[in-house]
Amino acid sequence: MSDYFDENEEKSVGEGTEGEKGDKKDTGKDTDREIQKDTGKKDASTTANAGKSDNSEYEDVCFVCRRPESKAGKMFKLPNNICVCNDCMHRTMEAVSQFDYQGMLNNPNLQKEMEDMAKKGGFPNISFVNLADLRGDGGIPNKQKLKKKKEKEAAQDRMPVLDIKNIPPPHKIKASLDDYVVGQEHAKKVISVAVYNHYKRVATDTMDEIEIEKSNMLMIGPTGCGKTYLVKTLARLLDVPLAIADATSLTEAGYIGDDIESVVSKLLAAADNDVEKAERGIIFIDEIDKIAKKKNTTSRDVSGESVQQGMLKLLEGAEVEVPVGANSKNAMVPLATVNTRNILFICGGAFPDLEAIIKERLTKTASIGFGAELKDKYDKEKNILSRVTVEDIRKFGMIPEFIGRLPIIFTLQGLTKEMMVKILKEPKNAILKQYQKLLELDEVKLEFTDDALEAIADKAMERDTGARALRSIIEEFMLDIMYEIPKDDNIGRVTITKEYIEGTGGPIIDIRSNQVTGRIDDLRQYPRA
Ligand code: ADP
Repeated sequence: MSDYFDENEEKSVGEGTEGEKGDKKDTGKDTDREIQKDTGKKDASTTANAGKSDNSEYEDVCFVCRRPESKAGKMFKLPNNICVCNDCMHRTMEAVSQFDYQGMLNNPNLQKEMEDMAKKGGFPNISFVNLADLRGDGGIPNKQKLKKKKEKEAAQDRMPVLDIKNIPPPHKIKASLDDYVVGQEHAKKVISVAVYNHYKRVATDTMDEIEIEKSNMLMIGPTGCGKTYLVKTLARLLDVPLAIADATSLTEAGYIGDDIESVVSKLLAAADNDVEKAERGIIFIDEIDKIAKKKNTTSRDVSGESVQQGMLKLLEGAEVEVPVGANSKNAMVPLATVNTRNILFICGGAFPDLEAIIKERLTKTASIGFGAELKDKYDKEKNILSRVTVEDIRKFGMIPEFIGRLPIIFTLQGLTKEMMVKILKEPKNAILKQYQKLLELDEVKLEFTDDALEAIADKAMERDTGARALRSIIEEFMLDIMYEIPKDDNIGRVTITKEYIEGTGGPIIDIRSNQVTGRIDDLRQYPRA
């Protein structure tokens, strides 16, 4: 289910941006002129860019220091699309002017001679290096360039379901989430309120004495219960860029693994190298429990506590310099400054063993005095995770400063059988609906009996990987159906039964009825291969 959703999502995002690019290509020059009119600045660069409309969405990057135009200021345009920033140009000029060439530059006769020679078409026996050759193939690719900041967004191709500039109230956000995410009522409620507050804060941007704090979140829940899915759905509904990073691969800067700041770099890529857009995005860091403090180590904890330390400033809001279009900083990659003040960070993790810590705390407090309770009282309690406190998480190995920067902590439930059945059929892009649509294109109706759905849910529960198991189970038995049905044009309806799922029988196949009466003529059993 997730894959399909991802594909959809990627496709639609891709389509959106392509469309956007396409539109801009057509009107490239006009847009340039408009920006010029509106802003009255950047005139030199825009005029120079007007000729090459396909590149005008991107900023120029200084050939010498690699800084983009927004940081380095106006660029000097040299032939062959080479740009040099003011600073570098001046430095070069200074260096040249200090060099006297044994009086050459101050000799008026020599200067005149050189000017004449240049007019005639060059100096004999001297060939000049073409700077463009030094840049390698085709210059700097677009993915390493920064998109220009724009005053006005061009007409939006894709309207988001929820508009972050005019953020709808939490109940509406939750209602939109309800269309996709089954159950997890508490989590949906918390996330809706947090997102509402966050974007309200971004929109008002108050910097007076009452500064609203960021609503970074920590999500705790077993695997496959919808943590990533919830965030993905939210980002899609809000149409904000989303970067999903895995905390396991992060290490302290300088060690093998990804730098912590690479998560911001990912977000910038998701925002199409548009810094402004990235600065309103969401970063989801999965498997956050894997960067807990390592217990009993004497060596430096480069992938645990150090990563937590390193993330502190990102979570709070800082200006970070990130490489554009690459994972690591090096001399050949331009850098962009991204402010993380308005980026919403959501961390998620399964936190195994956290239950044991909670139970221990609960029994400890209850085992003193007359009210003493039995040791195993909480063993059977479902949803013990929901009783989590900051103290438990600290005990698990997260440092207090880190937890302090994730003020909203909430838990998701493990999926029950009933929830699994609902996940199969209820969400807008439910997996059954997807198959039904596929077969509908062949004019075949696909149905599932209720006990068939329960049998699928039972099987998924056994695998203990949450809703992820559902898709693999369905794929398994739908393979035969998807293979056999198109063979026979007469098949009008297929009903999947419990027996078919359990391997003891076959689905019910209805042959297309006589067109006049609309009656189903034949009913036969379809054996499972
Ligand atoms: P995790 O909690 O481990 O991050 P995911 O969010 O990746 O799990 O869930 C895996 C897939 O299972 C999702 O892509 C989604 O299709 C499905 N899924 C999980 N939970 C739900 C839910 N509550 N409602 C609808 N689909 C769900």
